Amino acid sequence: MKVAIIGAGAIGANIAYRLRDCGADVVLIDKSSPGAGTSGASFSWLSSFPQLSWPESPGRRQLRLSVNARFDRLAEELGGDWLDWSGTLTVESAVPDFEKTVALSREAGAQIEVLSPEESRDLEPQLRLPEGERVAFELRSGWVDAPAMIEQLIRVFTLSGGELLIGSAVAAFERDRAGANVLFLEDGSRVCADAVVNAAGSHATHIAAMAGLAIPLELVPGVMLYAGAGRLPFPRHVINGANWLLRPDRDHGAAIHWRGEGLTVSHGKNGAFGGKMLADVAKAIPALEGLEPSAMRVGIRAIPPGGPVIGFLPWLDGFYFAVSHGGIGWGPVWADLAAQEILYGSRAEELEGARPSRFYF
Ligand SMILES: Cc1cc2nc3c(=O)[nH]c(=O)nc-3n(C[C@H](O)[C@H](O)[C@H](O)COP(=O)(O)OP(=O)(O)OC[C@H]3O[C@@H](n4cnc5c(N)ncnc54)[C@H](O)[C@@H]3O)c2cc1C
Repeated sequence: MKVAIIGAGAIGANIAYRLRDCGADVVLIDKSSPGAGTSGASFSWLSSFPQLSWPESPGRRQLRLSVNARFDRLAEELGGDWLDWSGTLTVESAVPDFEKTVALSREAGAQIEVLSPEESRDLEPQLRLPEGERVAFELRSGWVDAPAMIEQLIRVFTLSGGELLIGSAVAAFERDRAGANVLFLEDGSRVCADAVVNAAGSHATHIAAMAGLAIPLELVPGVMLYAGAGRLPFPRHVINGANWLLRPDRDHGAAIHWRGEGLTVSHGKNGAFGGKMLADVAKAIPALEGLEPSAMRVGIRAIPPGGPVIGFLPWLDGFYFAVSHGGIGWGPVWADLAAQEILYGSRAEELEGARPSRFYF
């Protein structure tokens, strides 16, 4: 079976790798370079706290609990240094109803220790918290170096015979008379396949429209800033503050995802705003005081209303959707399930709420 995947971000690269691993003939297409979309501007956190405290279907909860094991397996299969299980320190003010959230998350299977400010300083000497503010330490959590993971996925994928086409956008889709799916690329070339996977992230609506389909997506900008390369002994853990998330970053020292108010998506204004964001984070991490961001990125989160969109549409054979927020953490999960569905025609029960047909009926 030949499968063409549109989009070499975290989701498309995982699916390409898993399909090839299962023996499919796979071509992975990206208009830019792998990981250059939202996956390259992501915080890439792996965590189940406080998500495990949310009311979710049993199927979704099981999937959430399977994420860490899937990453362990992937890291073993791929090799490379891209996965860091250093744990997360979540400050009390970052979650509503701290005690209840911790209790519910533990009940659902999360490993959480509650630390006093003094105990959290033993783990992170640079962290300064207001008197009495507690911290939830989630042991089995961490972060992914997403560009490095994608590079490694694609390295193993191509070494095992997968085909990578980069630098030319998919411009049109057609079903030919023999029933094959044909993709027309901007450079004039064509790719024919038994199945096409739309893993184009924030461009997935555009790809769907080529097949005459309308899939709604909320596009929400998210800001990342980077600071302190070579300047600071940065925290080892992920730190989840009230307005921000911070983690170590191999190239930049620290990576910060700003979640507070005040972001205006315009390059000039964001530049000026970076210093203010850093000043806010520096209240908890004084080592950041006086630093300017070394880089800022705005990534576009593609958020389908009602959750991920994964699967075929019943009336358009061979056109598979793989669009999801949280695509770094969910990528290997969607890839395992998608490979089974695409290759063997099975239907994963866990994906029933995620079908694209929900937008039509
Ligand atoms: C600031 C920020 C923080 C985040 N934090 C987290 C987090 O902590 N944990 C987490 O799991 N997720 C997080 N996310 C979300 C996560 O990054 C995304 O869900 C994920 O990167 C989406 O991956 P993707 O493969 O679907 O899309 P992308 O990475 O955007 O990949 C899509 C690819 O499709 C290609 N493409 C588009 N159109 C075409 C075309 N016509 N032809 C060919 N190629 C095309 C693009 O070039 C791109 O490479 C965050 C996002 C942001 C912005």
